[in-house]
Amino acid sequence: MEINGKTEVCGLIGNPVEHTLSPVIHNTLAELMGINMVYLPFPVSSEHLQEAVKGAEALHIKGLNVTVPYKEKVLPWLVEVDEAARVIGAVNTLEAAAGGYKGYNTDMPGLYRAMISDDVRVDGAEALILGAGGVARAAAFMLADKAGKITILNRTPEKAWAIAKEVNRYAGRQVAEALEAERYRELSGKDYLVIQATNLGMYPDTERALIEDQDFYRKVRVGYELIYNPFRTRFMQMVEAAGGRAFNGLKLLLYQGIIAFEIWNHCEVTKEQADLVYGRLVEKL
Ligand code: NAP
Repeated sequence: MEINGKTEVCGLIGNPVEHTLSPVIHNTLAELMGINMVYLPFPVSSEHLQEAVKGAEALHIKGLNVTVPYKEKVLPWLVEVDEAARVIGAVNTLEAAAGGYKGYNTDMPGLYRAMISDDVRVDGAEALILGAGGVARAAAFMLADKAGKITILNRTPEKAWAIAKEVNRYAGRQVAEALEAERYRELSGKDYLVIQATNLGMYPDTERALIEDQDFYRKVRVGYELIYNPFRTRFMQMVEAAGGRAFNGLKLLLYQGIIAFEIWNHCEVTKEQADLVYGRLVEKL
């Protein structure tokens, strides 16, 4: 693609950002759709976060993704926050707006689009979420008005309780509950959709899963892992060994990026374009 005087810039702020795959998503989409835009990673140290947002505005940077550790910390420096992102309390996408940037959370709708594209039934599902960190929160709010029931399991149960309480308030019904992870034997269902949202099993510590008991996995219909490195985690192996379907987090990465791209460029990415970008991501991994 030709960079010229009209090329617009989008990027990623976070720390670290060196291993990000987001440039593959956005630069491929720009090329496929003939949009004169480039996407670059910008490492930002925490003491410079406010200056980075101000500087981006001054440079007319059209949009930014925000990654760890700034998804919550960036909120005070935004002029506006989208309703869903405000409820979740975290943003991962900023769009240039009058006087600064408006924040969005595309992890939440991205997870839904990822699951739809993998043909995973969410509506009415009996769901378990393993973990109660940032992405588990987005998953819980995504499921709030769709799942039949949500149980959040976490090593630190207080964090899971807090999310369940907020989700119930948001949904206006008692859809979510929480359980300390090591009490998983108390689960009475037999056809669970499980979203794996802890760090366990991520490269390089790949031989780990929150629950190691094969009896648990016999109750799992679908295991939806949010990690994509390794491509097939220990959690996924255990789900498949017990006869369930397992998916990794690469589609979440893809669709949270696609939704950000659609916000910045006011366009709609087709299934064919999404598939092509997905292929490039797999090549990169
Ligand atoms: P986070 O906020 O740091 O939360 C980490 C979660 O993992 C917490 O629930 C934590 O439990 C649990 N955990 C960590 N170490 C543990 C251990 N030794 N034993 C038991 N539980 C442990 O992280 P996050 O941002 O939500 O990310 C979670 C995972 O999702 C990461 O692996 C990340 O790669 C993945 N992710 C993927 C995408 C994607 O695009 N595919 C996007 C975002 C995140 P405690 O609360 O007890 O500490």
